[in-house]
Amino acid sequence: MTAKIIDGRAVSAAIRSDLKIRVQALAKKGTTPGLAVIMVGANPASAVYVRNKIRACGEVGIRSFQHNFPADADPKAILDLIEELNTRKDTHGILVQLPLPPQFSISEILQTISADKDVDGFHLYNVGGLVVGDTVFPPCTPYGVVKLLEHEGIEIEGKNVVVVGASNIVGKPMALMLMQRDATVAICHAKTRDLAQFTILADILVVAAGKPNLIVPQMVKTGAVVIDVGINRLPDGRLVGDADFEGLKNKVSHITPVPGGVGPMTVTMLLSNTIASAERAA
Ligand code: NAP
Repeated sequence: MTAKIIDGRAVSAAIRSDLKIRVQALAKKGTTPGLAVIMVGANPASAVYVRNKIRACGEVGIRSFQHNFPADADPKAILDLIEELNTRKDTHGILVQLPLPPQFSISEILQTISADKDVDGFHLYNVGGLVVGDTVFPPCTPYGVVKLLEHEGIEIEGKNVVVVGASNIVGKPMALMLMQRDATVAICHAKTRDLAQFTILADILVVAAGKPNLIVPQMVKTGAVVIDVGINRLPDGRLVGDADFEGLKNKVSHITPVPGGVGPMTVTMLLSNTIASAERAA
């Protein structure tokens, strides 16, 4: 079997052209969607992510406002800024780029963002909405995975799904979203004993552990769908996912590459959430 390589860049481009149309419709009502991006410190990976997000906003017609703080910034300055952004009519989404320096309480920062502008979907109100299947802002990476599956016509209902990784930003919301779509979901994490006995049962395997080569062909059922969320930089500079792409591509029915799979979708769903917020405000 030769896998269909799921092209996240192409799916992303198709979704972004629909997003542009929604931005034009908002313009007719006098609204331009606005996203505020707050970055603290100079983490090189974060700087790249922020740059990509700002550029992507410009491409679809979202206005972006970048707020940079030094690594030793007083958390109160960021909390005050968030309070101000919560009230601004030109700002429909607020994003704080993680990680934050150690003097910050991430949960305090995230809970200060108005639930109505929480385009990352990390506020407890939105997390609760996700649990009951009624969230306004689905977290961007798992939302992107769902959109990839839908775009490829991969049925979710009734499927055995295994999610490897149980973080608050990827694994847990991913499991909830797929459960909401009537999959039977198992969640594995670093303390799971004998990972392979779970992964081998998966019709759809989503991997988000941040461990290169964690998933090898003998752990995966022939014909399964493998969605690789992981992003790992190898010592030789190469960027790889968590799955052995070369080994798996002759065994599974669909697989996402790294880079060019889930990554572009994450930014696209951030744009989508920001536009949805502006539509609600309009
Ligand atoms: P994280 O917070 O470090 O969580 C990793 C999760 O994987 C944890 O639940 C951990 O288990 C589990 N895990 C670690 N080693 C494992 C192992 N050997 N077997 C099974 N489970 C294991 O990471 P994250 O933020 O969720 O991100 C995960 C990966 O996705 C990273 O590579 C990250 O760069 C990537 N990512 C990509 C995108 C994108 O847009 N493509 C977006 C976000 C993240 P415990 O809970 O037991 O520690």
